[in-house]
Formats: sequence, C-alpha cells, structure tokens
Amino acid sequence: MSLNVKNVDSLNFAGKKALIRVDFNVPLDEHFQVTDDTRIQAAVPTIQKILKDGGSAILMSHLGRPKGGPEDRYSLKHIVSAVEAALGRKISFASDCIGEEASQKAAKLGAGEVLLLENLRFYKEEEKGDADFAAKLAKLGDVYVNDAFGTAHRAHASTAVIAANFSQKVAGYLMESELTNADKVLGNPERPYTAIMGGAKIADKILIIERLLEKVDNLIIGGGMSYTFAKAQGGSIGTSLLEADKLDFVLELMEKAKAKGVNLILPVDTVIADDFSNTANQAVVTKGEIPDNWMGLDIGPKTRELFGKVILESKTILWNGPMGVFEMESFNKGTKAIAEYVAEATRHGAFSLIGGGDSAAAVNKFGYTDQVSYVSTGGGALLEHMEGKVLPGVAALAQ
Ligand code: AMP
Repeated sequence: MSLNVKNVDSLNFAGKKALIRVDFNVPLDEHFQVTDDTRIQAAVPTIQKILKDGGSAILMSHLGRPKGGPEDRYSLKHIVSAVEAALGRKISFASDCIGEEASQKAAKLGAGEVLLLENLRFYKEEEKGDADFAAKLAKLGDVYVNDAFGTAHRAHASTAVIAANFSQKVAGYLMESELTNADKVLGNPERPYTAIMGGAKIADKILIIERLLEKVDNLIIGGGMSYTFAKAQGGSIGTSLLEADKLDFVLELMEKAKAKGVNLILPVDTVIADDFSNTANQAVVTKGEIPDNWMGLDIGPKTRELFGKVILESKTILWNGPMGVFEMESFNKGTKAIAEYVAEATRHGAFSLIGGGDSAAAVNKFGYTDQVSYVSTGGGALLEHMEGKVLPGVAALAQ
C-alpha cells in the first residue's frame, strides 16, 4: 500500500475488542435468505485472525438503502445464520448499532466471540459522516479494522470518520489484497494491457476511461455504453441505450485514443431485440444498422471473436461491466464469451482483474471465478482507486 497503512498482521489482538467495518451488503431473496455470500466469505480471514489471536470481533456493516431509520427488510438479523455458517461458530446480534444493548453486548464479549451490530444506515448520521455518531460506535471497540473495500470510497461515519477515535487502526486482509491487486494494474503492468469496459452508463465511467487512455494499449468498449459511440459515428441505434449528452465526449475520446496510439475497439455487430425481454424476437445486425423500434442488447458473434483475439494477446486485463444484458439468458452470450476469453488468457499467463459488481456477478454466474487472477468485491471503490483518487476509507487508516 502506498500510504503508511498497516494490516491486521501488525497487531496481536489477544484480549482486544476489534471493531471491524465489513461490507455485508449481500443480496437477499424474498424469504430474506442470503443468495450470494461472497462478501461474507471475503471477510472471514480477517475475523478468524483476530479470534485466533484471542481477541473478539464486533462486526458493523450497512445493508441495502434504508431511508435513515429502521426497516425490517434491511435488518442484519437476516444474515446472522449466513455469518455463523461462514465462521463456523455462533455469533450474537445487537438490534441497534449504538446504545445500551450494543454497549452491554460488546462489553461482555470474551475471547473468540463475535457480535454483529444492526444496520449502520438505520442512522442517517452514517452516510453524513457524523462525528458524534462515529464516536458512539468507536466506544464499542479497542482497535478499528476496516475490511470494507466496497465502501472505502465513501467518507461515512463507520468507514472513515470513526478512525480518528483510535490510536490502533488497521486494514483487514481483504482491503489489503484489493489494493495490492489493483496496484498490479495501476503500477507497471505487463503489456499488452487491455481494458474492457461495458455496462449501462458512460457517465459513471468517464473519469476511469480517460485515465485508462493514458495507460492501456487496447480499450475495448461493449455493453449498453457502446451505442452512444455508434450513434456518434452516425449509425442508427433504434431504441438502444443512448446518452445524448455524451455524444461529443465519445467523439473526443476517439480522437484522443488515436492521438495516444491506443487501440479503441468497438463492437462490429449487435444482437438486437424488439422488446427488453428474454423472450423477445431477436436478430443480429451490423453495428449502427439497428432498425427503428429495435434495441441492441448484446454484442454479436463477430464482435465476440474480435474482442477475443485482442484479449488472448494481452498480458494484463482489466474488465469492468457486462457486454450485454447478461441477466437474461438470451443476451448473455457476449458477456459469457468475454469471461471465457479472459480465463483462457489468464491460463496463458496474463494477469486479469475483474472489477465492479456486475462483471464480478457475471464471472461468478458463469463459473470463472477461480480461473481469473482476482475478482474485486468493489465496484465504485475500485474505479475510484483506479482513477487515482485516495479512498477516504484507506486514507483514514494512515499512521
Ligand atoms: P453498470 O452498472 O453501468 O456496469 O451496468 C450494468 C448493467 O448494464 C447490467 O445490469 C446490464 O444488464 C446492463 N446492460 C449491459 N448492456 C446493456 C444493453 N445493451 N442494454 C441495456 N442494458 C445493458
């Protein structure tokens, strides 16, 4: 880590209560069962290290987007059994993250015991970064550990502001490995270096795309954002996603890429549909030739091949954002093919970093998680780190 940030290995937690900010913002089904426990599993090594030392762990997280007060559907009580399963031990739960119950339960914690606090975002003070709220949380523990990379780009009470209350504050293993892996791509990547960008919106990714132009040899653009490029080049895109206010930006971007000698690679064909539905009628057309009332929902077969060739020749790969509406089976072939090519390139020695919620979900869904170099748990946090910003959650840990 470039800042002077220590990790959990620098401390012996024996007899200490570690207050750990984790990212347990996991998906729940309609019966409040956890459908993907990746984020819980990702925090296990840090928690186990603390317990093994003879410390105790107080876990705090947000879940979903409550409106600043308690809402049963966002209660962390729903994930207690999933956390117990991941840790292989019973844990206790406090139905409020601050106040009498939390203080008493935290005070009673013995070596090797774990307490999970209720959703931090039941207080609007959390997202506001309120210092008094942070101080109340801080009273619960002796040492502050931040292992929530996914929220490290937010200067919230529990992710950053709280750290000022502690003399001992360290990064968890997940936080550390996220930063180390991102730095492999940021630092001196082996070439050719290829970035693959997809997903719905250019607006969210402008800064990272501009920054990548300074770094990469190849910039592949697929997904919903590619139709704004097709439109800017004079193509017809029917009812596909369009960011009309970004038409000038994409033209400038294409110019910049040319000037910098970056190979900007756009789709050459498109899978179109007459409705945003898995069962819609489908066809494949050349890019920029989408009829009225049809929309592009995936990259076409020639594009898969074109992108694949570039990926297979790469030595460093960063992938953020799906190539199409991969949640629908009819439009998942592009994203699946890219996952396959990235896995193949990795087998041949490339370093591949998969970032962003949706690309990670796609790699997971298609079963390639173990065949790529690193799957980041952070979407926005990873992008902001790659943009060169210092993440508030990391800065707060600096010694
Ligand atoms: P983002 O959050 O910007 O990474 O976007 C991810 C979302 O983009 C996923 O839910 C995809 O279904 C969606 N997406 C990708 N390609 C398209 C497309 N061609 N049309 C509509 N949505 C898309």
